[in-house]
Amino acid sequence: MAADLPARRFDGVTCPDCSGPIYDEQDGRILRFRCVAGHSYSPETMRIAHSKKLENALWSAIANFEEHAALLRRLAEATSGDVSDLEAGARERQEYAAELRALIEKVNGEQTLISTSMPSSKYFNGT
Ligand SMILES: [Zn+2]
Repeated sequence: MAADLPARRFDGVTCPDCSGPIYDEQDGRILRFRCVAGHSYSPETMRIAHSKKLENALWSAIANFEEHAALLRRLAEATSGDVSDLEAGARERQEYAAELRALIEKVNGEQTLISTSMPSSKYFNGT
């Protein structure tokens, strides 16, 4: 019966494993996250997996900036005449990649703080 099913809510969060919509289910004091494909997470495993998904997206962006910098350097090598815009573009892309690396370090530092200071009772109703 529907009354026996836990309350489900979708907040626009997607599954870290398959990127499908993920629902949180509150069953009394227990909170779980389940996606439409069947992946299931506790609050802590969801936090860790979703953080890893975010970090992977940043690493992908870094790789793309590095790749674009390499492309611009290659174009500069192959171009006769003024290549200052290409070289400046390559340097800029490498600076963006470095900024993203610093952002990852900052986020990972904050994650360490979150995991050591977050009370597990935050995920439960009541006391
Ligand atoms: Zn999934």
